[in-house]
Amino acid sequence: MSLLVVGSVAYDALESPYGKVERTLGGAATYFSVSASFFTHVNLVGIVGDDFDPKDEAILRKRSIDIEGLERKEGKCFFWAGRYSENLNERVTLVTDLNVFAEFKPRLPEKYRNSEFVFLANIAPDLQSDVLHQVKGTPKLVAMDTMNYWIERTNADLRETLGHVDILMINDSETRQLSSEHNLLRAAKHIFKMGPSTLVVKRGEYGAMLVDKNGVFSVPAFPLEEPHDPTGAGDSFAGGFMGYLAGAGSTSDASLRRAMVYGSVLGSFTVERFGLERLLKLKKSEIHARARHFSKLTQFKL
Ligand code: AMP
Repeated sequence: MSLLVVGSVAYDALESPYGKVERTLGGAATYFSVSASFFTHVNLVGIVGDDFDPKDEAILRKRSIDIEGLERKEGKCFFWAGRYSENLNERVTLVTDLNVFAEFKPRLPEKYRNSEFVFLANIAPDLQSDVLHQVKGTPKLVAMDTMNYWIERTNADLRETLGHVDILMINDSETRQLSSEHNLLRAAKHIFKMGPSTLVVKRGEYGAMLVDKNGVFSVPAFPLEEPHDPTGAGDSFAGGFMGYLAGAGSTSDASLRRAMVYGSVLGSFTVERFGLERLLKLKKSEIHARARHFSKLTQFKL
């Protein structure tokens, strides 16, 4: 089943103890789409400026990613620069230039409007709602991401969007900030009252946790000896997770558990190299091999 995503398509400048890149294709919707395209067809909604390189467009076109919904506008693409600490656990944002993103009014091409699976990547919550209103009928599954910026500045809009989504997929500090609860299980109960019936907490090197009415399911992060750049790991997780579900056309408990594993698999490949480098060389066989490795990693007898 087809999968719709709205979010940023950007150029990033990245710096970590393992190196530096001045300008590389990034953005939440980019990491999401490339990851999800291993499993299903993706309909991408976003905006780019006239500096969007045809080579980068080809990266998307070459995959199972429809870019009719990627608007072109005079001006520059969204630009973001970040630097990571020695252990890669902390990141400072050095630059956020919204550029063409500042006037973004998402418009869904007609053929996107029947999408059954929808992912609202990290953008202004009123734009997330706007996209959702343009989707016909009730999709099978709507998931969204957000960040501290929107929790602090546009809380009322965020509450409105949350009322229409099934899965909230955020990191642990955002979970605590949104719910005003430190304990993640208590936080989940709090968040369920806002609308979502499922919470997926992305916990970086500590893996990810899904909480819903059936209880809790956890997956570890894949142990890597030398991660290089965590940029986009959360968006790749979301792409693997939603891509798997849309590809399977299922939201059963068993599918959600497998989606957690595929999310972790895609996130782990992303951090192995800078930017999209590793994802662009990735093969389907490597994804499945790592998923089997996950299964071994977590199996035990009682
Ligand atoms: P993550 O590492 O999951 O936070 O995602 C990093 C990606 O998000 C980068 O490729 C950035 O281009 C993009 N990004 C950074 N800040 C924002 C923002 N405020 N809104 C949308 N996308 C952003």
